[in-house]
Amino acid sequence: MQSPDTLYQHAVAAYHHAYAPYSNFSVGACIETSRGTLFTGCNVENASYGLTICAEATAITSMVAAGEQTIQQIAIVVTGPGVSSPCGACRQRIFEFATIDTSVHLFDLHGAHKTYTVGELLPAGFGPRDLTIQHNLRKTPAKPDAT
Ligand SMILES: [Zn+2]
Repeated sequence: MQSPDTLYQHAVAAYHHAYAPYSNFSVGACIETSRGTLFTGCNVENASYGLTICAEATAITSMVAAGEQTIQQIAIVVTGPGVSSPCGACRQRIFEFATIDTSVHLFDLHGAHKTYTVGELLPAGFGPRDLTIQHNLRKTPAKPDAT
């Protein structure tokens, strides 16, 4: 498992790619998956504000698009001073692909760092286990026959 500082460095690189001309609130994120792969993301705003995508969401989307679905740990960096927690929607997004013990490392660019677990950020969260179709979740779709 990578150190939180390594995830921080990757999250900062993504932070610098953030597109946040309206809020000037840039965010970078870095996920380490259960396979040890790192995926980064940044927030992407839009003149139609409701279309804005959070850094955590872009990182998770990249992870899933690459065929991975398990977050081992995640780092999120904001300008600061002071760290910021993921928004409610992103807590739910992280919960979908993590466990309640998964570490969420929050950083700012000034050296502040706090670590929470997913369970601390979203206690009693609703997730895949609550759905009766859970046997269909987290399975790679069958590949077509090679015949
Ligand atoms: Zn968010």
